[in-house]
Amino acid sequence: MTMKYALVTGGSRGIGRAVCVKLAQMGYRILINFVSNTEEAEQTLRLVREAGQEGELLRFDVSDAEQTREAIEAWTQAHPEEYIEVVVNNAGIRRDDIMVFMEEKDWRRVLDISLNGFYNVTQPLLQPMLTHKFGRVINMASVSGIKGMPGQTNYSAAKGGLIAATKALAQEVARKNVTVNAVAPGFIKTDMVEGLDEAALKKQIPANRFGTPEEVAELVGFLASPASGYITGNVISINGGLYT
Ligand code: NAP
Repeated sequence: MTMKYALVTGGSRGIGRAVCVKLAQMGYRILINFVSNTEEAEQTLRLVREAGQEGELLRFDVSDAEQTREAIEAWTQAHPEEYIEVVVNNAGIRRDDIMVFMEEKDWRRVLDISLNGFYNVTQPLLQPMLTHKFGRVINMASVSGIKGMPGQTNYSAAKGGLIAATKALAQEVARKNVTVNAVAPGFIKTDMVEGLDEAALKKQIPANRFGTPEEVAELVGFLASPASGYITGNVISINGGLYT
């Protein structure tokens, strides 16, 4: 029996880890991408195995086009009969500052990972999806990419760009049963929001709490499933009612 494979970028921690576990529960073999945190990536792999699936670690920096292409090519050569039918472009960082103080390196790094990373990872995976007439591209955007957040012009630009790319690509590939959607979380309890004033921020959230990675993973699981086949080119918010 051929196996179904899903690649989750930034699968070592936070939302990415929860997505790995959810997709494993759905029967996918999981390719867990990460950039530096081997211990955390190994913990995700253990959780994937506990969910009854196999997985493997794929270490590469999504912002590095050559590294990414090499990693995907090596996997493809080792699995000539199979293809990656689900990709979750989840790797991301934030480097917040107001624009007057923002350094060029922080502007570039955030765009390099979220936006150029989307290109680097997705481009080589598309042709096999089109050939097999089934694929799912799910991009982790953010409320910042919809409404823009002060102190995050870099991050908002990266996520806004990702949303526009989602809409464009969806129209290119819809005929071949490949859907492309974005998920736009509000505040989700992960390492990324450490240091934020949760007590103050949750007052702005109608649900009066931050979300969990598992709640985001449920949405990603639905978008990955065949049941979501008529949803494409969309941005689905998951934010406890935070106005966007
Ligand atoms: P997180 O806990 O900080 O985890 C970030 C993940 O991205 C880690 O697995 C990290 O790998 C990986 N990563 C970072 N740079 C990478 C690179 N260059 N190449 C490959 N992997 C890289 O973040 P999170 O909160 O789960 O966020 C996941 C996604 O959701 C991000 O795109 C973020 O922008 C988005 N998001 C989060 C929130 C939120 O409130 N948490 C809200 C909206 C959107 P290592 O472990 O190796 O460092």
